[in-house]
Amino acid sequence: MEVKRAEKYGFCAGVRVADQKVKAFAGRGGRDGRILGQVVHNERVVEEMEALGVLTIDDLDEAAGGTVIFSAHGVPPSFHRRARDRGLKILDTTCPFVYDVHEEADRAADEGVHLVFIGEPDHREVIGYTRDRDPASYHVLSTVAEARGVDWSVYPRVKVLYQTTLNAEEYEDVVRYLESRAAVSRADTICYATKENQDAARALARDPEVDLILVVGGRQSANTRHLWEICGEVKPSYLVQGPGDLSDDWFAGARLVGITAGASTPDYVIDEVEQAVTAMQAGG
Ligand code: SF4
Repeated sequence: MEVKRAEKYGFCAGVRVADQKVKAFAGRGGRDGRILGQVVHNERVVEEMEALGVLTIDDLDEAAGGTVIFSAHGVPPSFHRRARDRGLKILDTTCPFVYDVHEEADRAADEGVHLVFIGEPDHREVIGYTRDRDPASYHVLSTVAEARGVDWSVYPRVKVLYQTTLNAEEYEDVVRYLESRAAVSRADTICYATKENQDAARALARDPEVDLILVVGGRQSANTRHLWEICGEVKPSYLVQGPGDLSDDWFAGARLVGITAGASTPDYVIDEVEQAVTAMQAGG
């Protein structure tokens, strides 16, 4: 029995860099850091950060001093000023792709174009784009029904921007509806890291040599579950949070085990699962 990993899996480049920056900060002795929101949606990563002395907070006001760390999702621009006014140092790990969306939105807003963010209004990334704006200057939409509820005749020009991790195709009907109501220009703000992980998982599952797939990640992680669904359409697939979830029955007669992982799964958890599979094989 051998293990084969998907061509792409786990952390995207933005989260990987954020993770490295926080660890480098802790490595320099920075034990007074507070991360605003999780650096990545994974309990193991949160525990790991806490062990390094870097705690997660939900509100800027909870940072009493030292350094506040802005996660890869980014924050409303005013948070930088608020942090400085409170005497905090800032470690900004905002993904460059997220900054691109901020800039694109600002440019359009300066030209008087109405902004439409396709995404979830409560997602941290979307809050970063919208919190500081005049509520009359934008909408956040994810369904045609929501789009139908707006009188678009008062917005002659509309700029559509997507939450970076969405699959644009799933929202095509929303944007088409907008195009039937206003002069719409679309910003290409989708990050393909998620799609690349999905495409690679599909390719792994379709590999005729691979007998079963292990998808490593949190059960609450939407993108992990999505990978599990993709693989499950092709091969027996199991979602595991760590090596403790493995069951001997799954591997009967298997020679090659495929492994992929959700975007919030740290490398060491994936390594632990791979080692456990290898040990099962060695132990018979
Ligand atoms: S925009 Fe893409 S690369 Fe950046 S943090 Fe989000 S998923 Fe990762």
